[in-house]
Amino acid sequence: MRQKLVAGNWKMNGSKASIKELLDGIKKGIGDVVSAEVAVCPPFVYLADVEAQLTGTPVVWGAQNLSTEEKGAFTGEVAASMLNDFGCKYVIVGHSERRSLYGEDDALVATKFRVARAAGLKPILCIGESLDEREKSITNEVVARQIGAVIDLEGVSALTDGVIAYEPVWAIGTGKTATPEQAQEVHQFIRQRIAEKDASVAEKVQILYGGSMNAANASDLLAQSDIDGGLIGGASLKAEDFLTICRAAG
Ligand code: PEP
Repeated sequence: MRQKLVAGNWKMNGSKASIKELLDGIKKGIGDVVSAEVAVCPPFVYLADVEAQLTGTPVVWGAQNLSTEEKGAFTGEVAASMLNDFGCKYVIVGHSERRSLYGEDDALVATKFRVARAAGLKPILCIGESLDEREKSITNEVVARQIGAVIDLEGVSALTDGVIAYEPVWAIGTGKTATPEQAQEVHQFIRQRIAEKDASVAEKVQILYGGSMNAANASDLLAQSDIDGGLIGGASLKAEDFLTICRAAG
């Protein structure tokens, strides 16, 4: 039985004050979340505040990106060791915004997965098709290629050191959620694809859904047999909405 994970991706949102209010709200309600793991991924500059406010609570945290380099003259970059320094458990790699706005390709994302894993961080590997790719009926090809880049670099068993997040690009931040059936179909395909290489890895690996998951649609999505949690953008910025999703996860 795979544990469910609900992770909030705050993207480039928040202030010291708003983050304190959000975390106070989450901490107040977290006792009602029975079995799911709950994580938040703030912007880098707030990691110290988040660490201070969440240490000793059941809520864990992570970052939204990392450098492939260990240290040195890489202005503006943040190394895996620095994320460890601030107690991060997770780091998101290959979010569609990084892929589309900052030119991250499959090879770079796979390298980020490798660097995170080597540092003992759990990479949350984001994959998913664009609207154009869905309309061309190449969703399966796209997600297989994106996962394949990591498998080719690290081997299939590496996947259990991380988490996969299936995030159809057309559903991210648009309010257009995949139906539970649409999401389940792709999650099942991803798991089958991994099972072709290693059935026990496929059985163990957590596959989250992301893309306009909210308090109203979470329970139907999370009821699908291959959906092991959610990566939540907009709805993770309001404590009550985020907690409703976490409770729906169990
Ligand atoms: C995301 O950015 O990972 C995401 C799923 O965003 P939203 O929930 O806002 O669609």
